Amino acid sequence: MDTPSPSPSSVPSFGVLGLGRSGKAAVHFLSQRRHPVLAWDQGTVPLDELKHLPQIEVLHGPLPEERFGRCAAILLSPGIPRNHPGVARLIDQGIPVINDCEWLYREAQRQTPPPRRFVAITGTNGKSTVTTLVGMMLAAADTTGIQTRTGGNLGQAALSLFHEETRTYVLELSSFQLESMHDFRANSAALLNISPDHMDRYPRLEDYLAAKLRIFRNQRPGDVAIVNRDDPGLWPEMAQSACLPGVTLVGFSIDRPVPGGVYIEDGQLIDHRGPRKQPLMATSRIRIKGRHNLANATAAAALALSEGAPPDTVAGVLEEFSGLPHRMQWVREINGVGFYNDSKGTNVGAVIESLASFDHPLVLIAGGRAKKTDFSSLEAAARNRLRAAVLIGEAANDLEQVLSRVAPTVQAPSMKEAVAQSLRLAHPGDVVLLSPACASFDMFKNFEDRGDRFSEAVHAL
Ligand code: ADP
Repeated sequence: MDTPSPSPSSVPSFGVLGLGRSGKAAVHFLSQRRHPVLAWDQGTVPLDELKHLPQIEVLHGPLPEERFGRCAAILLSPGIPRNHPGVARLIDQGIPVINDCEWLYREAQRQTPPPRRFVAITGTNGKSTVTTLVGMMLAAADTTGIQTRTGGNLGQAALSLFHEETRTYVLELSSFQLESMHDFRANSAALLNISPDHMDRYPRLEDYLAAKLRIFRNQRPGDVAIVNRDDPGLWPEMAQSACLPGVTLVGFSIDRPVPGGVYIEDGQLIDHRGPRKQPLMATSRIRIKGRHNLANATAAAALALSEGAPPDTVAGVLEEFSGLPHRMQWVREINGVGFYNDSKGTNVGAVIESLASFDHPLVLIAGGRAKKTDFSSLEAAARNRLRAAVLIGEAANDLEQVLSRVAPTVQAPSMKEAVAQSLRLAHPGDVVLLSPACASFDMFKNFEDRGDRFSEAVHAL
């Protein structure tokens, strides 16, 4: 155990560093429980909604370390790295620096039995899709809407999920969140895949993987660890070494049978966790499309079945769920050209999967803020698929270097212009795909804003 559980009766105040979505929810949560809170943000966030709360002091500008050095514990937002100099010094002083998901876990542990269950999902890509599916599968029988709650890195921040009546929390966890979680134990945890991302925050891919593998620490006998059998970076060594004694390792695959796992074989989704193969459904009935989404569906089924969801419910949700916005979302067809919004394709691995999902020639709109990204593997994925590429944002030149080897490229100064260019370059029957391989913050508020601006421009054509 790295940090003590803060006990409300004995602590003077808690710190909250970073006042984005999760930080604000943390301040509200603490305030409702009458804890004094010292909150800090660099200062770009509108904070009016926090100012009226009792016993909350909101600070801006440089991090006042000596004030936070007197806090009983600090909740750190995922956007602030643990090696931020001020934060690192607070950690060195022995101040418990955790995050909202860890706090939710500790709060839930303090509740009277029966114990609360935690289902946790991480990976480079597919987290939100899988988390949403599992949340739907587990909530299907819950008429109250509060027995299963879903959020974390997507949707609702962890501390706005807390409810006395909730039995199961389904949490999407990023590598940044996992770094600030110490006691958290997932009853069922999945690691979906790993490919380079966030290389601006991790010195090496191994460090990024190590953060992701933290999802399995603290698991106990009877818990379930779900790992992608098809990811050579994960299977078998990583999966076996991360899986603690007594924990059941369940592999999932779309390419081969996995005894003890959940997989696709001959067009059927199969549950083979027990001694016998149990066909769940024909994969043709799964509504979300593309190989990567089959993998997401398989992982979600493995998680939900491990948590006791009935097979019919799992199949029903997979038939019904049509995907999240900004992930390969169809927008409109103009002159025989289909426009797709994959604004959430924020790293190379995601874009490679998205490119592979289409049989049509593609005009790719990509670019934005790179995360110390090596774009070179896009070349092979784009070869013979791209009609052209329209490049935007800070990474436009770097992307042009790679993609101009396989297709004509142009640069555009705005999303509106990029969309107009893409229509000029596309032929009837082609697809225009926004899948940027980059973060959005150089030109947009976030990936949702980028996707919305794309859709707006497409509708305005
Ligand atoms: P995350 O929450 O991990 O970012 P999402 O479910 O939001 O994942 O999907 C983000 C993007 O990643 C999608 O738009 C798609 O391009 C790609 N993607 C989704 N699932 C996978 C997967 N299993 N493998 C590779 N790429 C994926």
